[in-house]
Amino acid sequence: MTPRVVSICVSLLVAGIVVVAFASVVTRPPERSFAKHFEAGVYVCATCRQPLFESRAKFASTTRWPSFRAAVESSVAEREDRSEGLERTEILCRQCNAHLGHVFDDGERTGDDHPDAGLRYCVLSSALEFEGEARE
Ligand code: FE
Repeated sequence: MTPRVVSICVSLLVAGIVVVAFASVVTRPPERSFAKHFEAGVYVCATCRQPLFESRAKFASTTRWPSFRAAVESSVAEREDRSEGLERTEILCRQCNAHLGHVFDDGERTGDDHPDAGLRYCVLSSALEFEGEARE
């Protein structure tokens, strides 16, 4: 095999790799996001299906994560998270311990006497599945 033939073979191989890599990128389905999803129902844990957040507790935040004022009672555990140089409160599914995201205190103010005023449960779309209310 001459150097020129080797060079052509290498070029064809590289071109093939590029085509395969590009095809895998363009055919990948877009990542699902519940950030702008506002149907009536409940968001459940994607791992164990435990109900975590009701749609009526959801609000339109300016972030790209679905945001809730409150979690279904006793469904979410909290844990101090000091990773990435930040002080945050991690939220986890209380039933299966799956990581859900974080809870912050910069959410909507829904009234001074409301116990959940100002909380923002910032949740990963990939940690959730949605179950809509049954329609008749
Ligand atoms: Fe779970």
